[in-house]
Amino acid sequence: MSLRFEISKIGHAARRATLHTPHGEVETPAFMPVGTAATVKGVPQDLLEQLDVQILLSNTYHLYLRPGIDQIRKLGGLHRFMSWPRAILTDSGGFQVFSLSDLRKVTEEGVTFRSHLDGSSHFLSPETATEAQIGLGADIIMAFDECTEYPADASRTRNSMEMTLRWAQRSKKYFEDHKHEVPWQSRQPSAVSHQEKTRFLDSGDESERGFISAARNDSFDKPEQTQALFGIIQGGMDHALRKESAERTIEIGFDGYAIGGLSVGEPRALTREIVESTIEHLPKDKPRYLMGVGTPEEIVEYSNLGIDMMDCVLPTRAARHGLLFTSEGKISIKQARYAGDERPLDPSCSCQVCRRYSRAYLRHLYASNEVLSQVLNTIHNLTYYLDTMRRVRHSI
Ligand SMILES: [Zn+2]
Repeated sequence: MSLRFEISKIGHAARRATLHTPHGEVETPAFMPVGTAATVKGVPQDLLEQLDVQILLSNTYHLYLRPGIDQIRKLGGLHRFMSWPRAILTDSGGFQVFSLSDLRKVTEEGVTFRSHLDGSSHFLSPETATEAQIGLGADIIMAFDECTEYPADASRTRNSMEMTLRWAQRSKKYFEDHKHEVPWQSRQPSAVSHQEKTRFLDSGDESERGFISAARNDSFDKPEQTQALFGIIQGGMDHALRKESAERTIEIGFDGYAIGGLSVGEPRALTREIVESTIEHLPKDKPRYLMGVGTPEEIVEYSNLGIDMMDCVLPTRAARHGLLFTSEGKISIKQARYAGDERPLDPSCSCQVCRRYSRAYLRHLYASNEVLSQVLNTIHNLTYYLDTMRRVRHSI
């Protein structure tokens, strides 16, 4: 058993459910914070636990380039490497190859691309992307797909969708043949050596003790369990192709279904239209994951349409640029008008930042380019997103 999706309430189109993964339960609809390089930038894992993050997304492309899949596999997989005992989802790397790398060449076999870090040449295919994701050992992994660009004409959209379907089949085949190679069961030494554990335990520091209890327990090792593989629906902005893509992806058979190829520059009204029409063709008993969205308003809207999982860099990236989401609207903390503002960032927010600091202080940290600015802003924005999802779940 790799994944169990238990729906507890249905309200109109929305569903409230629990996703049982090998690394804990995830209440849905869920927003997944993005930990690109095995870290949600600026926020340590114990704090993410305090914020009640139940699932993180990490990017295969970035980890593949640095520190490398073999390195993470040798260290016991991504959970153990980053000391995160809860659920993780990895993307296939496809989207980053299309959006970040230079000189990519797409063939039926896969994609050859140059690293955005050092220009070195690499190759990702349905087989190698699935192999990489098995090596990382996330609870949920994604089939390798081609994200169709926007705009794209009818024949380009169909050809791209057809290739994604063939790649989905190859991803599934590789996964079925190799799923037992997941690093959870290996008895590799963890990222923390025994000697270091003893030293930390002797230090008596509370936070370090917490770190050790997470690193020591056996929650990283899950014998008898395997990962879950999700398929990705493409088909551009064409309703008929989306329907066909959904039906044929379901025929291949996956543990969950993602809607990909959206938020690629199309108008928001069109995104919503495509999501709504695609959902109709997805099975009711499997999780539905909308990739790469959105604003606080959008994650509410998509949950109400029947989406169960979402991810987006927006709350964390915006935070680092001083853009904060609050119950009173967006605040750009860099503005001089906040220099003498003693009020909390968001009076309705109970996060540790809003309880403790003033807008004036946050504005000062940002203007002075202090590291703490990014940390505090990210904690608030993540809390805002997670609170939004909690409200959505309660309203269903
Ligand atoms: Zn707050």
